[in-house]
Amino acid sequence: MDYKEHITIVKDYPQPGIRFKDITTLMQDGEAYHQAIQDMAVYAKQQNVDVIVGPEARGFVVGCPIAVSLGIGFVPVRKSGKLPREVVEADYGLEYGKDRLAIHKDAIKPGQRVLITDDLLATGGTIEATIHLIEELGGVVVGLAFMIELGYLDGRDRLGDYDIFTLTKYE
Ligand code: 5GP
Repeated sequence: MDYKEHITIVKDYPQPGIRFKDITTLMQDGEAYHQAIQDMAVYAKQQNVDVIVGPEARGFVVGCPIAVSLGIGFVPVRKSGKLPREVVEADYGLEYGKDRLAIHKDAIKPGQRVLITDDLLATGGTIEATIHLIEELGGVVVGLAFMIELGYLDGRDRLGDYDIFTLTKYE
C-alpha cells in the first residue's frame, strides 16, 4: 500500500516552517489503518516481542491495535504527572519543544522483549527517552516501529543501535 496517499501534509503546523504529517486521514480509512497495523504486527511477531510500549498520544494509536492483534500487553508512556502510580521519568527534547516522560515502575519485567511504537520518527528524542525508561526497568528493546520516518532529521542515526521498522519515509 502507498501509505503516503493516506497521510496529509499540513504546512506551518504547529509552528511556521513545520510540514506536519497528519495521520488522522490514514486512521479515518479503515482499510489503510488495518493494513498499517497488520504490517507492523508482522514486524512485531518477527522480533518475538513480549510487550509493546508507546508514548502518548499517537504511540497509543499505533501500539494498542498491534498489541491486541498479537494478544500481548501494551504499556503507556505518558507526560510527567499523568500516571497514577509509582513511575520512573526521563527528560527529552522534541523537534519543537521540551518535556518529561514517565512509565509505571512495575510495567516492564526484567528481560522482557519490548517493541516501541509511535506514529512518526523525527529527531528520535521521544524514542531515546522511552528507550531509557524501558532499559532502566530491565527491559530489552528489540525493535522500534513507526508509521512515518522523516529521513532529513537523522533520527535513525541517533537510534542507530536499535532495529527500526517504518511504513513510509519522507526525504
Ligand atoms: P522526535 O522526538 O522524533 O523528534 O519527534 C517525534 C514525536 O513528535 C512523535 O511522538 C510524533 O507524534 C511527534 N511529531 C513530530 N512531528 C510530527 C509530524 O509531522 N507529524 C506527526 N503526526 N507527529 C509529529
